[in-house]
Amino acid sequence: MIIVLKKNCDEHEIEKLILSLTEDGFNCVVKNFGDHRLIAVSGEVYRLDAEHIRAYDIVESVKRITEPYLLASKSVFEKRSFFAGGKRIGEGLTIIAGPCSVESEKQIITLACAVKEAGADFLRAGAYKPRTSPYAFQGLGEDGIRLLTKAKRETGLPVVSEIVSEKDLSLFDDIDVVQIGARNMQNYALIKEVAKSGKPVLLKRGAMATVEELLLSAEYLLSYGAENVALCERGIRTFDSVTRNALDVSSLPALKELTCLPVIVDPSHASGNRRYVAPLSYASVSAGADGLMIEVHDDAKRALSDGAQAITPNELKIIVSKAKEIQKLVYKPVNTQF
Ligand code: PEP
Ligand code: MN
Repeated sequence: MIIVLKKNCDEHEIEKLILSLTEDGFNCVVKNFGDHRLIAVSGEVYRLDAEHIRAYDIVESVKRITEPYLLASKSVFEKRSFFAGGKRIGEGLTIIAGPCSVESEKQIITLACAVKEAGADFLRAGAYKPRTSPYAFQGLGEDGIRLLTKAKRETGLPVVSEIVSEKDLSLFDDIDVVQIGARNMQNYALIKEVAKSGKPVLLKRGAMATVEELLLSAEYLLSYGAENVALCERGIRTFDSVTRNALDVSSLPALKELTCLPVIVDPSHASGNRRYVAPLSYASVSAGADGLMIEVHDDAKRALSDGAQAITPNELKIIVSKAKEIQKLVYKPVNTQF
């Protein structure tokens, strides 16, 4: 159940309501979304009488929610968009682009300039790489974060980068959006710490996770302190090996029905093949994606990770312009308020 509170209500009155609910065995999380305030109530909420709660002076409305996730559902917000690094995510088409990994100063600065020129809103690149093989390039770590910060200063592009351990969180001060990768979608210790930092998060779907599990991980983020969360559909594992993963396009209209959170699609990891990145981008935008995250390299043959799926900056430019045209055809504006 979600209790929406009236604006500027008395803290003391909120505490009284929470005390009465917790004494009755319910779990309460108070959540601020901008100047809106809510209480997410979990437990045996079927025992709660909504009329009784509505009778409190501070309560604006009460919403019963049947899904196991509350704050990520659409019951309060039809759609949530937010600013990160000065760019809005969740309205229009957000383009996040850059190499898989930060490899050197020259590489990241060159690519940051190139993706900006091609129309990217955010630069992406991993400094910490969760590689399947222990022998594969593991990322430049702290040096990589430093180089990303430099690329951000030189181009003005905000940066998205993946965190793999909560121990590194203090290094992410200048990173605008913290990415939680597919392998860590259910690493709840990491998720809780990232949530507590209050930073905007891009949460990728695990290769073997259901949509509901993805939304419950988002719920962890929202209930532990994150205000701004976007989801990322990046392909799931199927029986087929013709592509690296299978892009679950069906999840996009489903997510539109289930959640208020923006959904970004990563066609690069979904396919593992640069030739499929453009068609998958167009399919995703047609199915309602709020943005695309695409791997780009100017010398893919020598890339230290994921060269086979990297497109050129020029190809990115074409995708951005066509994808924006497609979005104009299919976009339906929705109310982003209560
Ligand atoms: C990435 O975006 O660099 C990445 C490792 O992706 P995923 O977590 O989707 O595999
Ligand atoms: Mn990659």
